[in-house]
Order: sequence, then structure tokens, then C-alpha cells
Amino acid sequence: MAKAFDFGVERLAGMGVGMGGGESETPEGTRPSSIEIAGMARSSASPLQGRVRTFFLETFGCQMNEHDSEKVAGVLLARGYRQVEKPEAASVVLYNTCSIREKAAQKVFSRLGEYRTTKKEGQIIGVLGCVAQQEGEEIFARAPWVSLVCGSASYRKLPQMIAQLEAGNTRVTGLDTDTDETFETEMTRRDNPWRAYLTIIEGCDKACSYCVVPFTRGPERSRGSESILREVKELADLGYTEVQLLGQTVNSYVDPTPASSGRKMRFSELLVAVAEVAGIRRVRFTTSHPRDFGSDIVQAIESLPAICNHVHLPVQSGSTAVLRAMQRTYTRDEYLEKIAMIRAAKRAISVTTDIIVGFPGETENDFADTLRLMEEVRYDGAFTFKYSPRPNTPSLKMADAIPEEEKSRRLAILMEKQRGIQAELNAARVGKRFELLVGGKSRRENQWSGHTTDHKVVNFTSRRQELLGDYVQVEVKSAGENSLVGEEVEGRLQSIVYS
Ligand code: SAM
Ligand code: SF4
Repeated sequence: MAKAFDFGVERLAGMGVGMGGGESETPEGTRPSSIEIAGMARSSASPLQGRVRTFFLETFGCQMNEHDSEKVAGVLLARGYRQVEKPEAASVVLYNTCSIREKAAQKVFSRLGEYRTTKKEGQIIGVLGCVAQQEGEEIFARAPWVSLVCGSASYRKLPQMIAQLEAGNTRVTGLDTDTDETFETEMTRRDNPWRAYLTIIEGCDKACSYCVVPFTRGPERSRGSESILREVKELADLGYTEVQLLGQTVNSYVDPTPASSGRKMRFSELLVAVAEVAGIRRVRFTTSHPRDFGSDIVQAIESLPAICNHVHLPVQSGSTAVLRAMQRTYTRDEYLEKIAMIRAAKRAISVTTDIIVGFPGETENDFADTLRLMEEVRYDGAFTFKYSPRPNTPSLKMADAIPEEEKSRRLAILMEKQRGIQAELNAARVGKRFELLVGGKSRRENQWSGHTTDHKVVNFTSRRQELLGDYVQVEVKSAGENSLVGEEVEGRLQSIVYS
């Protein structure tokens, strides 16, 4: 159960966070419309026959990718596979990939390159996720030792695809994006025994001009509220106390449950219903799109302490001109109105964001607007990125690209500003008490870490021996830019306090 102590979980700058993405290089129509045996040789006997079936799965990118991997692992375990820690010990090696920025995509190809000479006879190497969707069958040309390429919208077909490979086919692809299904599995192998991810909406119907996600994850598909609530109850029965609802634009959720059943829910109603499931103590949700963020969500947070008082609301830029070029569908002022609504809540709500610097045409004044917006909002955390041009996105063809050194300069200024804001906000918590869900244990004796409801990491000491998965009360003794340090205190909190 123990896991490494994750000091400094709050991240400041472009470090492979964000929701996974990718894009399609091959024009629609030239792609196989369903599982396709792209290759070629069929041998009469499976290379896997007679072997212990084992798999290795490595995940790149966001929480949605992590959760997809949990489901993929569930599918394979249900088929009798055993998960192993090292790729060389596996009969099937899978990489669940991210292509939201160029660097992330490059990392995948360098990982695949490691198999050029070391791939063993009969071993299956597969590429899943956004790079798979983006590159399609090109992957076979770039890395001929790969035998499975599957985008996230086709994961439901993974068992059949694996069966094809087990039957001796040498190359299989699943690259649909037009499916209206969500990826639900009979079994999900969850990595964390007390906090469960749950995807409630897949794909994205927005069209931000820099983003590959609509290409790689397909259109929005929401999962029925009845099925979501059924799973939450099962999770609670299994001992999970925290549920994190996931979606690229989680608050754009549209319940497909038939109205006749009388249970078609808005996103805010779903939040409340999940929070009311017996045994669930915390409900998180990410990522919220500003356009669809309404007062009903704030009211839901106000009404139930089990709904965590944290909103991740990516702004991307503080300049209305840049927001327009990004096709974000809101202005600076409209975004700030949403922030004012959150700040006016009866219960303090922490706010984090994503910001991109160096978007084509971003002037010094635009950048200064972003810095001013950060001062005004005073985010509890920010994931900051240099704009990365991605294939097939509208912004790729935009004029006035910003030179790489200038992007780096702006990113450094932005990060410095955010560090200062976080240091001040964290310092204001010293001497206050918080409830934590304990998620990490240090190798050093008596040292633990956990998250507050508003998603702050606190590293703390306790004389107790086994705390993982428990809720404890901690007093903050000191603060840094990225995390807080505290000590466990006796008793229960009167109320959750922080300023
Ligand atoms: N759907 C969420 C939203 O609209 O805010 C965000 C999901 S996105 C996959 C995660 C973050 O990656 C984005 O918020 C954005 O800041 C960043 N990102 C996406 N495309 C990018 C690009 N081409 N270059 C740099 N950062 C990018
Ligand atoms: Fe990408 Fe925009 Fe969709 Fe977010 S809302 S996933 S940034 S297209």
C-alpha cells in the first residue's frame, strides 16, 4: 500500500500536466473505420501460445490518460494477463501516449526506439492514446517493431484487437474518432486504493485553435448519470472515499440518461448526487471550461462540504485579443466575472489555472495583460506552458510566431510571478488547521503527506504508525512556494478554515 512520498506535488510550469491530446496526420477517410488488420502476415500459430501472458504499461500525460490506463489494465487482467514492472519481462508492452505538446510526443518515439534492437521474438509492442491517433499507421513505418496502434476512442475494441494479435496477426489498428461510445469496462485496475478517477465525459467539442484534443479524442460523449452513480456506490463499498470526476471539459457534461427515467442530471446535480453517496467524503472534478462554468456549480460546492472547494479553471491568456485568436469563446472580462462569482462563495474556493505564453501574435502588451490578470486572480497554482505548434491545428498557420527564446523569457517571468503569489498564499496558512487525506509516506520515519480539500499538499509528521488513506487533522507550521509543512493534531476540525 505504501507509496513514495510525493513532496512538492504542486507544479508550476509546463511539466506534462494537462489533459492528453494528439491529432490526426492522415486525412479522414483514409483511415480504417474499425479494427483493421493492417498487416500483412498471418501465422498459423500465435507467437503467444504456450507463454505466460504478461503486460507492461507505461503512461504519459494527464489524469485522463492515467485513468484510461487503469481501464486498459483492467481489460487485460480480465483476459488472464499479469502486469509486470519491467518491459523486458512482458509479452505485451503498451505505451499510453500524450501529444499535447511536441516534447511529449517526441518522448514516446524515443521510448519506442529502445526496442529497435531489444524487442524479443513474439513480443507485442503497442502504442495507445493521442500519439497513436495522431500518427496512425505512420507509427508502423517509423517503428516497424510496433504491432498495435489504438486511439482512445477505440479502447472498447482493445480486447478484440489483442485477440487478433493472439491469433497471429502481426499488425492491428483502432483509429475511430466518430464513435458515440464511452470507454466503460467491466473491470478497472485502480492504482490508488482510496481515491478513484472516473471519466464522466470523453472527447471535446470546443475548437481551441492550438489544441489537438478534438482530433485525437473525438467529439464529446457523456456517460449516463445512472451508470456513474452505480459505479460510485460500488467504489464506496470497496472503501474508496475520494472520487475525481474527469473530462477535458468536465462541466460541459450532458446526461444522456433517458428523460423517461426521470434522472437526467445537470453537472452540478451530478456533483451533489455523487457527494451524497454514503462513504464518499470528497468529490473533485477537472477540468472546467470557463464558458460552461455557472453559478449552480458554486452553489453545489457551497451546499456540501464533500464537494471539494477547488476549481481548475484554465484561462490560457489574460488578453482578450489572444483569447479570440485561441478561439476560447470568452473574453478577459467574462473570465474575471466567473472568478468574482467563485470568490463571492460562502465557502472559500481555491482556483488553479493553465496559461500558455508565446501564442502567435502575442505582443508585450498581451503578455502584460496576462501578468496583471494573475495579480488580480492570485491563483493557488498554475500550469504554465510555452505555446507548442501542433499538426493540423488552426494556429499552426498563424502569422507572427514568437521566437523560442522569447517564449522562454516570458515563461520564466510568469513562473516567477506565480511563485511569489503562491509563497504569499501559503504563508497565510501557517498556524491554521486543515483536514488531509493521507496519500504518501516518506522513507523518513513519522513523515507523511496529504491533500487538503482545496488541493494543497501538506507534508507532516505524526507519531502514529499507519495513516495511508486516513483523514487526519494537521496544523501548518511552515510554508514554501509549492507545499506546506505541518504536524498532526488531535481532535476534529470545527470547520475548514483558511484565508
Ligand atoms: N480542456 C482544458 C481546457 O480547455 O482548459 C484543458 C485540457 S488541455 C489538454 C491541457 C492544457 O494544455 C491546456 O489547458 C493548455 O494550457 C495546454 N495546451 C494545450 N495545447 C497546447 C499547445 N499546443 N501548446 C502549449 N500548451 C498547450
Ligand atoms: Fe483542447 Fe480547448 Fe478542448 Fe480544452 S477545451 S481540450 S484546450 S480544444
